[in-house]
Amino acid sequence: MRILSLIIPAFLLTVFASAQPGSDQQHLRYKEIKSGLIVFYADNPASYPAQLKIEFPVLKNMTPSRQDYSFTVVPAGASNMEVLRLTAQKGKMSQFRERHIFLPGDPSLKPDTKHAYVFPFKHGLKSRIGQGYYGDFSHKNLKALDFEMPIGTEICAARGGIVTDVETRYDKGGTSRDFLNKGNHIVIYHNDGTFARYGHLKKNGALVKPGQKVTAGQVIGLSGNTGYSSGPHLHFEVGAPVKGKAPQTIATKFRGPNGNTIAPTTGQTVYARHPGKPPVDTRKATATSGKGKSAKVVPGKMVIQEIKEDSGSRLIALNGMKTETFVEVRLKLKNATSEKGNPIMFSLKPGNRTEVTFIKPKNLTKPWGFSYSYQVTVKGN
Ligand SMILES: [Zn+2]
Repeated sequence: MRILSLIIPAFLLTVFASAQPGSDQQHLRYKEIKSGLIVFYADNPASYPAQLKIEFPVLKNMTPSRQDYSFTVVPAGASNMEVLRLTAQKGKMSQFRERHIFLPGDPSLKPDTKHAYVFPFKHGLKSRIGQGYYGDFSHKNLKALDFEMPIGTEICAARGGIVTDVETRYDKGGTSRDFLNKGNHIVIYHNDGTFARYGHLKKNGALVKPGQKVTAGQVIGLSGNTGYSSGPHLHFEVGAPVKGKAPQTIATKFRGPNGNTIAPTTGQTVYARHPGKPPVDTRKATATSGKGKSAKVVPGKMVIQEIKEDSGSRLIALNGMKTETFVEVRLKLKNATSEKGNPIMFSLKPGNRTEVTFIKPKNLTKPWGFSYSYQVTVKGN
C-alpha cells in the first residue's frame, strides 16, 4: 500500500484577515502511527482560540474518524490536539491530499453586542469621527471608525483583553494602494471571542506586547498615519469570528460622556469617558493632541493654533490676554472649505479657548492648503 500526501497551504486574501492575528502561529501535522492509520494533530500556541478548516481535495479509500471534520475549534494554548484520523481501507490503494487554514477565533462564541466600549483615547478628550461604518474612502465593507487625532496621540484600549498581535515596523502612509497592508496595528482579543484592531499607529508606537493583559482605558500605543490613510487618525474596528471565514466587523456601542451609550456616526464629535472616571463636561473637553503639541494659553497673547487632523486642519484660538478680546480671522483657501465660513468673527474671554473653524479639502486628489491672518481688538474700559 502506498500513501501519497501533499499539503498545500492556503491563504485568505482579505484586508481584514491580513490585519488579524496571523495564522502562522498555529500548525497542523500528521503522523502515520501504524500502517494505514494517519492521525492529524493541531497546535495553537496563541492566546486566542482558532478554527481549523480542513479539506481533502483527494480522499481515496480512506475513512475519516468523523464526518464533521471540516471545522474544528482549537483552543488557545492547545498542543498535540488530535483532530482527525484517516484509516486506509484494507487491500486497496489509498490516497489523500489535504489542505487547511487556521482562522482567528471561535465562531461558536456569541459577541456581547451590549458591551459599552470606551472611546480609544484619554479620558476627557474629544475626537471627531472622520469616517464611520461603510465609509467611502476605506470602509466600504467594514463597520469601522476613524478617530481624528494628531500623530503621537496616546491611544487607549477600548475594552480589556489580551494583546494578540503587534505590528509597528512601518513608518510611511498615504492614499496610494501600495500602502494597503503596510500600516501598523495592535490587535486585542476580548472574552466574548471578538478582536479589536487599532490601526495606523506610528512607527514603534506600541506600548504593549503580544500575550499582555490590558484593561479598558489603559494606554496601549501612539497614533500615527501609517499604511493606507489620508491623514493622521486611529482606525478602530471589532471583528467577530465567522465559521469558515476571517472575522467580520460588527457594530459596537460606546460609553458616552454622561453614562449614556452612543452608536457613533461619521462627522460626530465624541468624548472619552473611562471606567471609574467622572462625567465629561463636553463644553470644556479638549481635542486629542499629540505629545508635546497640546495647545496652551500664552500669557499676554492671543494665539491661533493649527491642529492637523485626519480630514483637514482645526484652528483654535487661545486668549492669554487680561481682557475680553474680539478676533477677526481671514482665510485664504486653496481647494478648501471652512466649516464656519470666512471671515470668522468671535469674542473670547480672558484665559479661554475656542475652536475657530475646521478647514478641509474640497477634492482630496488635488493639492490643498490655506493661510490665515487675524486682527485682535481689545475691549476698552
Ligand atoms: Zn479606517
